[in-house]
Amino acid sequence: MTPQVTDPPVIEHGGGVWSIKVPIPDNPLGFTLVHLLDTDRGAVLVDTGWDDPASWHTLADGLAACGVAVADVHGVVITHHHPDHHGLSAKVREASGAWIAMHEADASVVRRTRSNPPERWYAYMAAKLTAAGAPEEHVAPLVRAAEEGRPRRLPGLDPALPDRDIVPGELLDLAGRRLRAIWTPGHTPGHVCLHLEEDHPAGLRGNGRLFSGDHLLPGITPHIGLYEDPDDATVTDPLGDYLDSLERVARLDPAEILPAHQHAFTDAPARVGSLVAHHEERLTGLGALLAEPRTAWQLAEHMEWNRPWAEIPYGSRNIAVSEAEAHVRRLVKLGRAEVVPGGDPVTYVAV
Ligand SMILES: [Zn+2]
Ligand SMILES: [Zn+2]
Repeated sequence: MTPQVTDPPVIEHGGGVWSIKVPIPDNPLGFTLVHLLDTDRGAVLVDTGWDDPASWHTLADGLAACGVAVADVHGVVITHHHPDHHGLSAKVREASGAWIAMHEADASVVRRTRSNPPERWYAYMAAKLTAAGAPEEHVAPLVRAAEEGRPRRLPGLDPALPDRDIVPGELLDLAGRRLRAIWTPGHTPGHVCLHLEEDHPAGLRGNGRLFSGDHLLPGITPHIGLYEDPDDATVTDPLGDYLDSLERVARLDPAEILPAHQHAFTDAPARVGSLVAHHEERLTGLGALLAEPRTAWQLAEHMEWNRPWAEIPYGSRNIAVSEAEAHVRRLVKLGRAEVVPGGDPVTYVAV
């Protein structure tokens, strides 16, 4: 089935489902696939895209190409709180009065992002990186920013508060459609996939279609790092959550997957299999590195990335360390590594 691409970039997937390529400025991902689902009460969007004037225009033009005015959008279902998915939700709601639905765990991230003063975030990040073994010169800019009370310049700092809960396992209240929420934590604590429990319009074998957000993508491994929460010291296991969530969507065996980046694809169990194998390979590699005691920072320095560590920019190093920590926590949970008692910064060693 060759997707039909028109200008504006809209793909019709059949059975009252379209996707619109909404650009993400200056980002190698290129675009977010915002999905449009026709219901008996009007158009419902799955995700909205990055908050940028060009992205907003592309979304509006794309909707128009599907015969929908932004003002007519009835509801917005958000897979997770990241700004390339939830960025334009406030604008859509403002233009249409649409409701916005999100899983409670990500809604709580949104509330924290809106309410925590920037210095609290800087201090939290500085403390976390110090505990992970980051060198002083890496942490210093965060400490300075916290002391100076500098505003955060990252995008998506004023995300829309959702007004509906997405309840795992339940059907969303959509007139004339069967869309079930599948909780898939890992990439974020409240990530959800949405399972459209209807026959595939082209008769593909399998169970309905799955809007997979960032959980399951055809050619990219989503970032799995630590859940950032200055208000909660619980030791979470995001990689363990992610691997469990992968099994959950493989078991659904959808006929087609409609992800939020790249392109639609089939054979979820095969894709899940290769992602599970990828993370197992990473865990094995980390286990070998932990033959001698190392901090999360030192692990990140030695792990394989898409370029040498020396060339990885500041912000990406923070993401890399978070990813190393998520993997080492998994090893600890599996009994394959342990924390060296009294280590400061926190040091791990293979068991
Ligand atoms: Zn994401
Ligand atoms: Zn994304």
